[in-house]
Amino acid sequence: MATLFIFLFFFAVGYVARCALRPWKPCPHCQGTGRVASRTGRGGHLCHRCDATGLRLRSGRKAWNTYRRLTRDA
Ligand SMILES: [Zn+2]
Repeated sequence: MATLFIFLFFFAVGYVARCALRPWKPCPHCQGTGRVASRTGRGGHLCHRCDATGLRLRSGRKAWNTYRRLTRDA
């Protein structure tokens, strides 16, 4: 049981470190290209989920930003 907690601890620390060092991840909707191919394979349109940047903010970092905003304003 202790091994599980140690594993979870390191997993959490690793995730926090990833959010701090590399807050952006490739957009899963467009695979980081910023464009979504149409069904016919031609043309396509800009990805709306990442505003065509191909990057998405990690949810952990998003939560951290929200936390910072709330505590700063309070
Ligand atoms: Zn995208």
